[in-house]
Formats: sequence, structure tokens, C-alpha cells
Amino acid sequence: MASLSLCSAHLSSTPSRSSLPTSSLLSPPLSLFQSPIIRRNSSIFFTVTPRQIPQSFPTCTSLVKCCVKEPLKVMISGAPASGKGTQCELIVQKFGLVHISTGDLLRAEVSSGTEIGKKAKEFMNSGSLVPDEIVIAMVAARLSREDAKKNGWLLDGFPRTFAQAQSLDKLNVKPDIFLLLDVPDEILIERCVGRRLDPVTGKIYHIKSYPPESDEVKARLVMRPDDTEEKVKARLQIYKQNSEAIISAYSDVMIKIDANRAREMNDKDWQVKVRNNPLFDKASPVQDNWRGIPTRLNNIPHSRDIRSYFYEDVLQATVRSIKDGNTRLRVDINIPELNPEMDVYRIGTLMELVRTLALSFADDGKRVKVCVQGSMGEGALAGMPLQLAGTRKILEYMDWGDDETLGTFVKLGAIGGKEVDEEDDIFILVAPQNAVGNCIIDDLQAMTTAAGKRPVVLINPRLKDLPASSGIMQTMGREKRLEYALTFDNCYVFRLLYYAGTQYPIMGALRMSYPYRYELYKRVTEENGKEKYVLISTYSERPTPDQINDAFSGKSREESKKPSGIWGFLGSGFF
Ligand code: AMP
Repeated sequence: MASLSLCSAHLSSTPSRSSLPTSSLLSPPLSLFQSPIIRRNSSIFFTVTPRQIPQSFPTCTSLVKCCVKEPLKVMISGAPASGKGTQCELIVQKFGLVHISTGDLLRAEVSSGTEIGKKAKEFMNSGSLVPDEIVIAMVAARLSREDAKKNGWLLDGFPRTFAQAQSLDKLNVKPDIFLLLDVPDEILIERCVGRRLDPVTGKIYHIKSYPPESDEVKARLVMRPDDTEEKVKARLQIYKQNSEAIISAYSDVMIKIDANRAREMNDKDWQVKVRNNPLFDKASPVQDNWRGIPTRLNNIPHSRDIRSYFYEDVLQATVRSIKDGNTRLRVDINIPELNPEMDVYRIGTLMELVRTLALSFADDGKRVKVCVQGSMGEGALAGMPLQLAGTRKILEYMDWGDDETLGTFVKLGAIGGKEVDEEDDIFILVAPQNAVGNCIIDDLQAMTTAAGKRPVVLINPRLKDLPASSGIMQTMGREKRLEYALTFDNCYVFRLLYYAGTQYPIMGALRMSYPYRYELYKRVTEENGKEKYVLISTYSERPTPDQINDAFSGKSREESKKPSGIWGFLGSGFF
């Protein structure tokens, strides 16, 4: 929430600039020079909770729709040692759900010596299931608690029998998603038999694949009484007997995950599943929190509300992507005000976006380097892209809040290997682009090599070749340059879609906010004359012009194979 209120604070404290030309170098937009209110050291990485609606967001409510959904409900099922614990951690972290593990609840009852614990202990120690009536009552009580109702839940280890599934059905409890972890038997047995618990730290080790760090820890490790080979086999048997009935009850919302991998692989796998599965699209926290596309995008300059809306949208996607360990990120945002090709002065809006990102990361205690490419080429060929001319100066003159922000938390630099200092945590590159006859890729490459595992965020890069008069640039090393450009993953995409050859009216919009799917919206005019954007299709990959064309004309892919139509003109160069 910190970054959200930070944004609203410094944007809403500025007088309206609606009558000003956007980002003129001579009369730059007021908000570039306003004093942002800075609260350093509040963590955005752990406090931007997508399920919450920012209370302090500026008065966008008249412009953007607010769609609050039911909290997400997830069930996870897998044989013993299939990695449920790891997946549960990831899910809870991402969606802020209440984790309800029947194994944990029962162990807590056993260790506190309650009536339930006394009844359950023997069953648990022998590796068999605790009677249904005990577990069902326990889970029903837990699900009815306020936190689970409010935040949604992740049910782990329940239901394990058909009767348990039926009991949930009677209570009208149905998950949005049923995750099934898939691991071969022999691996599961190996994992269980070697699994050891450190009773002091609660950390789980494996005698072969993850041994303890010291002899001291090794000496105190204990084995779960139900982890012997014999009992594991019995538990596996029981799991298999029951799982079929459970799976059939939830097959309509089931996602199968190959959990026979290392943790990092599972992380990636999870991301891919989230991206590619429409179930997650329905339940995505972004959708829960997302207030819809702002209207009146035809009006230039955009209102402060609209600008701050997009800055926040980009920020959240970037934070999520970095949190997931991505280090090469690409933001591609093309609202009219962020399109310097239409009007070179619009670079000011880009600077404002860059400032929002940089200050939010700095607010999290990160040292941010904001980089603009310098002059490229030599002698008579030296120069820089017109739209970037003066940007470094604008950045220097902008108000970065309190005195020490610029120069300590945020530093300015050029694009290149030499600009990477040890203390830099993250790099934000302002519209890196090739110029006629000159190529930025080598400098970019040197910079990313020096940055190593630190995140590098490209804001509106344009890395396609621009031919020199001799055409040399198009041929030499072209493949390698394109290959390099592809090493950056899109973490945010927004662009408006127009009828062929016009800037008006807007037909719709394409949006992707990491890690969710590409969303295609159609702009419609309601009866009262107001406009709104309606979601018409989603895609796991960026849709082609043909796919967009089909979605707008209501055709399935098979029906229309013609590359023509209203989007035909866009061609591959546009996308
Ligand atoms: P877990 O930690 O999920 O492997 O559970 C440990 C033990 O708790 C199991 O071997 C069962 O004895 C018991 N248990 C956990 N969940 C259930 C359930 N849904 N139904 C019956 N017994 C359960």
C-alpha cells in the first residue's frame, strides 16, 4: 500500500495541469516539478497486496470501474511429499490466502493434547486417515472463521475422501481452482524416507538431496513417525484409492502441475500455469483489484487521474515480475500521452512514469539508477534520437522529493557497462532506442552483462533496426541483435487500437500486466452516451493482428484465415 499512497499523495497534491501543453521542455508539466511526499523504507515488495483496493488512490472512481470479486478459493491435492508445502507457500505469498492444512491442524491438536488430538494421534502415527467426522468438523469450523471468509483460502490436505468432498458440497463450499500435484511413486517414497525435521527451527531437510549444514543440526533431526517406507507406501495406497473420487468431483476446475522438479522449476512452472490457465484469469488478483480501463483516452492531455492510473498499473506489474525473480523486463505502454512520436514533448509524461517507478523502488530501500542513452556514433555521425534530446536535463530538474533522494536512492546515468556501480540495485532505462545508422544494443548488452542478476527495466524500448543510408545496419549482426532484444520479458503492455489509418475513434485496447494474460478490450458507447471498455478475449501470448481482428468480428480462429481486415494494416511492424 505504501507505493499506492505515495503515488496518490504526490500526484494529487499538484494543481491541475489540464490546460497546459503536455511536457513542453520550455514549460514542463507542473507535476514533474512538484514535491512528492516520500516515505522511505516502507516495503512495496511485501505491502502491495493486489487483493486490496487502494483507499488513497486519487479520485479515479468517476473514470474507472471498480470490480470487486469474491475472494479466491483454492484446493491443493498431492500424495505425501509431492511438494504441497512449497506450492502452498508460493500461493499464499501471491494471493494472500489463508492456508488451512488439515495435517497441520491435526498435529497442533495432538501436541496440545486436546480431545481431537488424542483421537487422531493413533491414526496419524500409523499413517492411516483420521475418521471423516473428526476432520470434517474441524475444517468446517476453520472455514467459517472471518479471516478465511474475507481473504479466501487455500485448503491443503482436504478433502481426502469422497465423504469429505460430499460434506463440502453440502456446505456449498466449492473451490475456484483445484490444483493437483503430479509426482511418480518412486520419487515420493525416496523423498519421504529421507525427509528429516529440525525440531528447533522447523526446517525440513533431506538426508541426501538437502543435508543439514552442520553436525549439530544433524544430531537433533527427527523423522516423522509416518515417514518410514512401509507407512509411506500405505499412505500412498490410501491416497490413490481416494484421489480418483475427489478428482472427479473437481475435474471442471482442476489444474495438474508436474511437481517432479526442483523448487525453482516449480516456481517457473507455476507462473506459466497462471499465465496460461483461464481459471486463473478469472480469479486473478489483478482482476479483483483492477478498476478497468479509464475512459476519455481521446482527450489530450490526459487528466492526472488517468496518468496516475497507468503509472500505478505499470508499477504493480513491474513489482510482481521482479518479485518473481525476473531480471530483464520490458514495459511497453502506448497511451497517446506516452507516444513521443506523435509529439516529441510527450517525453515529459514518460519521465513522470519513470519517476513514479524509481521513487517507489527507492521507497523500498532500493538504489535505483535511471539511465538515458547518450549521444551515439562518432564525428559527423554522432547524435541521439530526437525524442530523447534533453531528457537527461529534465530528469535532473525534476522534483525528486527530499534533498538526498536524487544522488543517493536515485541516481542518473547513461546506458552502458561503465554506468553499472556496485551499489545499484535496479536499473530503469528510459526508452532505449536505435537511431538512424546507430545501434543501442551493444551498450545495452554491456550494461545487462555488468548488471548480472540485478533487474533491468526497459521503458518503451525501440530496439528494431533503423537503416542507415547505406543499409549496413540492417544486415550486420541483425539476428544477434534481435535475439538479444528477445531476452527481455514483457512485464507490461498497453496499447490502444484504432481503425485503420485514424487516431479516432478508439476501437479498443490491448493490456497485459505480469503475470496475467493479454486482455483484449472493445470500446463501446453505452445508451447514456458514456463509453466503456469490455473484455472480449484473453490470450496467453501477445495476439496477432489476425487474432485481434477475429475477436472483434466475433469469429473463431478457424473461421477466418484472411490476414486482412481492420487490423490488417497494422502488420507485423506494429506488433
Ligand atoms: P499431512 O501432513 O497432510 O500428510 O497429514 C498428516 C496426517 O494427518 C495424515 O497421514 C492423516 O493421518 C491425517 N490427515 C490429514 N488430513 C486428513 C484428512 N483430510 N482426512 C483424514 N486424515 C487426515
